[in-house]
Amino acid sequence: MKVEIIKCLKDNYSYIIVDKEKQSACVIDPSEAEPIINFVENKKIHLKYILNTHHHYDHVGGNLELKKRYNSKIVGFKNDKDRIPGINDFVKNNQVWKGDNFEAKIFHVPGHTSGHIAYHFYKEKKIFTGDTLFSLGCGRIFEGTYEEMFNSLNRIKNLSDDTEIYCGHEYTLQNSKFCIYHDSKNLNLKKKIIEVEEKLKKGLPTIPCILKDEIKCNIFLKAKDLESFSKLRDLKDNF
Ligand code: ZN
Ligand code: FE
Repeated sequence: MKVEIIKCLKDNYSYIIVDKEKQSACVIDPSEAEPIINFVENKKIHLKYILNTHHHYDHVGGNLELKKRYNSKIVGFKNDKDRIPGINDFVKNNQVWKGDNFEAKIFHVPGHTSGHIAYHFYKEKKIFTGDTLFSLGCGRIFEGTYEEMFNSLNRIKNLSDDTEIYCGHEYTLQNSKFCIYHDSKNLNLKKKIIEVEEKLKKGLPTIPCILKDEIKCNIFLKAKDLESFSKLRDLKDNF
């Protein structure tokens, strides 16, 4: 299962997964329709599914246009049925969602928004985390509590450590500045920052990242308890 990374808007990533056998595809969080249309028409594949992690505009902006054009099914958290445009496949926590050969477990990961979900393609060990877990960072807490966000991150952290993480934004370099400021002796982090800078210099995404590296380098995953996590989240908001 190959994941195509599609740059959208200023710093968003949408992801297209292609099932070669059936010539079908799903897109995760189409921020806008045009780059997705370009890709699927070029490859002559059928965009059957749109998977949304949460309702923010930069994650659902392409929903309606793509649905109209390809008659795609739009998957999202059932509690967000009134704010995800075009949604017609409602999923809940821990459910296994299946479409053609695609198969993902739904993780309800509230914090950034109350209805945020992540899609865990467990056979392929890939998770699409939207604005919950970023490389070297985590999402801002808009609707949930610190505790919800902390628990959501811990749930992802407990996956097998070779899991690939696909997040919603290219924030890695910016995030690294906060991590190194508060964790200046972390050699793994220093190494990671060099890799990140090299990728960006070549115009490449820093995504996917590997959970194992995030556990060593991402200061929010290193936080030992809710109190230290909350303090870090506050500091980051004003960094
Ligand atoms: Zn968001
Ligand atoms: Fe976002």
